[in-house]
Amino acid sequence: MPKYVYDFTEGNKDLKDLLGGKGANLAEMTNLGLPVPPGFTITTDACRRFLEDGRLPDGLEEEIAAHLAALEGQMGRRLGQADDPLLVSVRSGAKFSMPGMMETVLNIGLNDESVHGLVKQAGGNERFAWDSYRRLIQMFGKTVQGIDGELFDEALEELKNGRDDLKLEAADFQRLVETYKGIVREQTGQDFPADPHQQMRMAVMAVFESWNAPRATLYRRQERIPADLGTAVNVCSMVFGNCGMDSGTGVAFTRDPGSGHQGVYGDYLQNAQGEDVVAGIRNTMPLQELERIDKPVYDELMKIMETLENHYRDLCDIEFTVERGKLWMLQTRVGKRTAGAAFRIAVQLVDQGLIDLDEAVTRVNGAQLAQLMFPRFAGDAESARITKGMNASPGAAVGKAVFSSERAVELAAQGEAVILVRRETNPDDLAGMIAARGVLTSRGGKTSHAAVVARGMGKTCVCGAEELEVSTKERRFTAPGGIVVSEGDVISIDGSSGAVYLGEVPVVPSPVVEYFEGATDQDDELVRAVDRIMTHADASRRLRVRANADNAEDAARARRFGAEGIGLCRTEHMFLGDRRQLVEDLVLATSDAEREQALAALEPLQKADFTEIFQAMAGLPVTIRLIDPPLHEFLPDYTELSVKVALAGDDADDKDLRVLAAVKRLHEQNPMLGLRGVRLGLVIPGLFAMQVRAIAEAAKAVEGARAEIMIPLVGAVQELEHVRDEARRILAEAGVEALVGTMIEVPRAALTAGQIAEAAEFFSFGTNDLTQMTWGFSRDDVEASFFSKYLELGVFGVSPFESLDRDGVGRLVRIAAEEGRRTRPDLKLGICGEHGGDPDSVHFCHRAGLDYVSCSPFRIPVARLEAGRAALVSEGSDTR
Ligand code: ADP
Ligand code: MG
Ligand code: MG
Repeated sequence: MPKYVYDFTEGNKDLKDLLGGKGANLAEMTNLGLPVPPGFTITTDACRRFLEDGRLPDGLEEEIAAHLAALEGQMGRRLGQADDPLLVSVRSGAKFSMPGMMETVLNIGLNDESVHGLVKQAGGNERFAWDSYRRLIQMFGKTVQGIDGELFDEALEELKNGRDDLKLEAADFQRLVETYKGIVREQTGQDFPADPHQQMRMAVMAVFESWNAPRATLYRRQERIPADLGTAVNVCSMVFGNCGMDSGTGVAFTRDPGSGHQGVYGDYLQNAQGEDVVAGIRNTMPLQELERIDKPVYDELMKIMETLENHYRDLCDIEFTVERGKLWMLQTRVGKRTAGAAFRIAVQLVDQGLIDLDEAVTRVNGAQLAQLMFPRFAGDAESARITKGMNASPGAAVGKAVFSSERAVELAAQGEAVILVRRETNPDDLAGMIAARGVLTSRGGKTSHAAVVARGMGKTCVCGAEELEVSTKERRFTAPGGIVVSEGDVISIDGSSGAVYLGEVPVVPSPVVEYFEGATDQDDELVRAVDRIMTHADASRRLRVRANADNAEDAARARRFGAEGIGLCRTEHMFLGDRRQLVEDLVLATSDAEREQALAALEPLQKADFTEIFQAMAGLPVTIRLIDPPLHEFLPDYTELSVKVALAGDDADDKDLRVLAAVKRLHEQNPMLGLRGVRLGLVIPGLFAMQVRAIAEAAKAVEGARAEIMIPLVGAVQELEHVRDEARRILAEAGVEALVGTMIEVPRAALTAGQIAEAAEFFSFGTNDLTQMTWGFSRDDVEASFFSKYLELGVFGVSPFESLDRDGVGRLVRIAAEEGRRTRPDLKLGICGEHGGDPDSVHFCHRAGLDYVSCSPFRIPVARLEAGRAALVSEGSDTR
């Protein structure tokens, strides 16, 4: 039978799969000799089995009982023991942190008898014991029994009657316990379970079940966390921050998660229990003040934070509690941070000698880099500033203020940019946070729900803007100076500075983009960090990075961003605009002479197009794809033209009639699978030849030009042979050397790659079409119609158009790469779909042995970084 339960002394930080992050790190801290309240962890394996079978797996209860007995022995008291109770918390904890998404119940083991035992244990502190008891019923009722938490909150508010919770006395809490028990009875038809073992058992199952709660499911989808991991459950003996002013609870970071700078960053709350800090029942104090309140505890905490940083070699966040002057560590993990801080911290740690540059590159990722390339607000907007909150998650967001999650979702669905404004957010706001451009709260610090979740999502967030009075009911907020912002009014928030502006503030480019553009100013610490990391990523990567660009301007930008060539130069737009007429003439040509005339007119224009691009790329390879899309795209709309002709009747224009006939002839039910790509080249004599001649002439005109001619939509080697032979002849006539290769974007091409490689000098995987044709999805249709359903059902975790489908499309890529190279060992392999700039897909391309990825100019830095990371991380390791 598998082992389902691990004592904190048995685990370690590398067992996150099995023990969850919280459990693994509690074990790690225990083994480091840090003060962790004893306890044990029930594995994610037990959770998965429970969720599959709908009952606790065989043997689990016995194992829990044995570990509980050991814990009771160690603590010298039994769970819920009437005269001297052991109390425990039952805490969720999955492999990847999902802040506030799942459940935790504190103070398990209290009932009408043991509450008196707790009074005794606490030296007669009645207030503390009854406070703990009411908290148990409240948390248990809400999370285990599914009772609406508002009911408990309202009863508490009524009791407080405007008073601070510190003003409540033992008798108040005792009364509240009775009220709460009444709520439980009313809502469930049963008494609150007095049996401590039953409490624990029910709480364990509730934590397991919370894995599949809607908000947890939504969060996982957003964060791309697999749905089948399950959560572990931690049973941890209680320590109490709510037994007086010499006690308290807090959260902290070992360095600033916004800037990366070292220092003391945290919040502390006296006489309170865990959840109170995040929930914001009272205003927390900055952690520095603990030094004044209890110097020894503060000093010990600082030392522990240093120990943790050195041990994890990274920024950590922690939860701790002080029980009457004794410090307890309740949680740690490698902390979330802003994108900018990620780069700065990685480099700081290198300078501190804690990690090397290889590791620094793996500590950041392309998504973070992409975030840093967002524009920022112009600095001269100060007059529009209405207040300042905390800079919780960077970026510049502009949108209409909305005051509820539902409204945010609604307006965003209509294409509106919105800013979600809340007093504070809670897990039910998740959908609204996803829909919004940014989040603004008036309460809560950098560790509040809004801040943590927004940072995780890379969403702009300003929190704790305390000068704002937010009224959800009236859908408006007021700011100093009598300013009122109602739903629909535009505001701008700056997550990097915390500023909130009225109206739309203009934005300026990011310094990181300016650095990529070639600005040499290295005063900015962030720019310096990015520079060091990118330099090392470039030195480490095997994959080359090219750009998709089809004009000189994009080509030039791509080069500045570090492109080592053009992987895809599309030629179809070169046929639009005022050249449309020439194409129409070509299509309508009824004789060879007419057709040749149209082609002859196009050729010099094409030559000029290619010349510019070769010049911009100065000797770097340029892969030019011969014309791809269906011809009807160049002709007038069928319906419009038929109406025009019909209305004209007998007077219809002769030309219109001819065009209409052509449009009719070329009309396709399914253009994506119709006359396009190589098929078009074979059907219209001279079209491809004209393009190849233009390429050859342009290459001749530009010193050092390196042309690669790419044939689209090939499915059979015979198609390619026809075009290649003609291209070779033209190139030879012009005395120009160029590679001739093909796109691999039709499944048949991938499956017969061994044959196709006989005629192709390179393959470039066109993964947009390849995905479309492998799945049988019409991209333009399916994304709107049923992809959200598929994501919901878990058919895939992310759209296969966004991130390469490794199992299906990826398999075709691997087959083609392998069989192509068997035929032609020096076959050059690249990818030129949108996937070329997607981090996950870049890693796939590295592992599949491709030579390069090609992506849009703005994604080039991302691809360079990810290619470096792919070379530096070991196969199968987590890159999250
Ligand atoms: P989350 O993952 O939402 O942070 P936790 O399991 O960490 O949930 O618990 C919620 C709060 O309760 C935290 O502030 C934590 O520090 C506190 N807490 C958990 N277990 C104990 C315990 N045994 N004694 C005191 N406080 C606890
Ligand atoms: Mg926690
Ligand atoms: Mg294609």
